[in-house]
Amino acid sequence: CGIVGYIGHREAYPIIIKGLKRLEYRGYDSAGVMLYDGDNLKLSKTKGKVSDLEERAKQITTNGTIGIGHTRWATHGVPNDINSHPHISNSGNLAIIHNGIIENYEPLKKELIKRGYTFQSDTDTEVLVNLIEEVQKKENLKLGKAVQIALNQVVGAYAIAVFDKQNPDEIVAARLGSPLAIGVGEDEFFIASDASPFIEYTSNAVYLEDEEMAIVRLHKPLKIRKIKDDTLVDPYVQELQL
Ligand code: GLU
Repeated sequence: CGIVGYIGHREAYPIIIKGLKRLEYRGYDSAGVMLYDGDNLKLSKTKGKVSDLEERAKQITTNGTIGIGHTRWATHGVPNDINSHPHISNSGNLAIIHNGIIENYEPLKKELIKRGYTFQSDTDTEVLVNLIEEVQKKENLKLGKAVQIALNQVVGAYAIAVFDKQNPDEIVAARLGSPLAIGVGEDEFFIASDASPFIEYTSNAVYLEDEEMAIVRLHKPLKIRKIKDDTLVDPYVQELQL
């Protein structure tokens, strides 16, 4: 399973598709992409290969300079189109991609259903994106803070990237147990399971440590925090060898 995200000045879709293909070695059963074109959040996902996703994505307009893409290795819910990532929150504002397992998704899901949330998929991931939304709404928080609070309620393993249409100049990424690298370019950022999707665009990479989250924001320096205690971490930028 693999993760690719982009925010910057280039078209995100070709970067994401190429990146997902580079991550194919990680194994997967489905693939999907979310793109943001400045107005709309566009979603395309399918069971099958990245080439099947390219076929499916002909049904949407694939323009936009922000996007996230995923190849799924199903753990909760069979491999099918609906269970594929990205998953969208009930309001339609948040999109998430996730590698890993949310072990306590069942009690969290029950609680969210009590509060009126509905679910389309059988995944643990759709529970996480709605938990983030619930935290965000209740306390009127920015995405980064909401992700942090939600992750502190979660048991399991994850590499995630989350996008919020209400604040569309940033992507929040976090990891515990699954790998995540951030490519730091000029006025652009890449998020990926390893550096292979972005090495042709930048040789500057920051590898997130377990229990760290990153806020990548356009025209702003990369910010990394500890998920548990909120301390700021100085990003350690590695020069990749080509
Ligand atoms: N647990 C999630 C799911 O089954 C993510 C699986 C993955 O790592 O691709 O959808």
